Amino acid sequence: MFHSARLKLTAWYLLIIFCISLFFSLTVYQILTFEVDRFASRQRSRLESRMMESEGIPAEMRIRLLQRQAVLALDPELISEAKNRISLALLGLNVVILGLSGALSYFLAGKTLRPIQNMLEEQKRFVADASHELRTPITALKSSIEVHLRDGSMTLPDAKSLLNSAKDQVDRLSTLSDSLLELSSNDSSESTVKEDVDIAEVAQKVVSEMQPIASQKSCRVVLDQSEARVRISSHDLYRLTSILVDNAIKYSQHGGEVRVTISKNKKYGICMVADQGIGIPEADQKHIFDRFYRAEDARKSNGSNGYGLGLSIAKKIVDQYKGFVRVKSRPGHGATFVVGIPMT
Ligand code: ADP
Repeated sequence: MFHSARLKLTAWYLLIIFCISLFFSLTVYQILTFEVDRFASRQRSRLESRMMESEGIPAEMRIRLLQRQAVLALDPELISEAKNRISLALLGLNVVILGLSGALSYFLAGKTLRPIQNMLEEQKRFVADASHELRTPITALKSSIEVHLRDGSMTLPDAKSLLNSAKDQVDRLSTLSDSLLELSSNDSSESTVKEDVDIAEVAQKVVSEMQPIASQKSCRVVLDQSEARVRISSHDLYRLTSILVDNAIKYSQHGGEVRVTISKNKKYGICMVADQGIGIPEADQKHIFDRFYRAEDARKSNGSNGYGLGLSIAKKIVDQYKGFVRVKSRPGHGATFVVGIPMT
């Protein structure tokens, strides 16, 4: 498909270049042949006037001389040869232009279509990954319902446990579909309402909301705050901070500490989230912002608690506001995520 689209685009480019080149060649031909004709007629009139002005030559001789010079000056064969040479040169030039532009058009068509092809492939991969992730909880839900339906002696506690596990799966599905929607939405920073927001205020809110989850793991979440006002939608900033803090708690060991530090430099308001958890191997660090990517250690330590979508959402938000997100980590020694958002 890509190849035939490339050929079609090349043909269109060529057609456009051919039309332009033809138009210019015809114009140049017209101008040059007009100039040749004008030159010939000016030459003739000059000779005539020179002869008429010359004295001392008998009239009969003057006319004969005039005829001879005029024939030499206006040799129609020379004129038509000049015209032929002009058209041949223009034809040759057009062939060269078409050959060169054919190769160039093919190259440019490939370059133009490459991002579209990449986007299509990315979309296909996204749909395949999303359906794979959606299928897992649906299959689990379906099979546990089927098992219980087949079991004739189902008691009330069994039914309750079935409903509880069904609710868990539905929760997972709803989290996943929310994340997918968030990732596929085309909001750009122009279309979202930017506000003047203090990162410290948002971080404070996130930290206090995450406290119950952290205390389940006996984790301490500490906030070092100083004012850093940035231009961003407060919802996006909340989402960004909560993804990082949630991950830091999720990948911390029992009794660990998560430190959230807010600061600023000349250009950016900065939020740093550091934990003492499992850390991220070097090889995984460049992939963790890809959709559905989960490091092996994370799968082992957290099982099905995650889809590998949080950081890609975080990256998308940061890119939207022309900010940055970086990670520093050593396996077994925790991870530090640093996010910068342009200041107001
Ligand atoms: P997930 O739902 O799996 O947490 P994310 O996109 O938020 O998805 O993170 C992608 C991967 O990055 C995780 O699966 C994990 O391997 C790694 N990761 C992210 N944050 C941390 C962290 N604080 N400590 C260790 N690994 C992390």
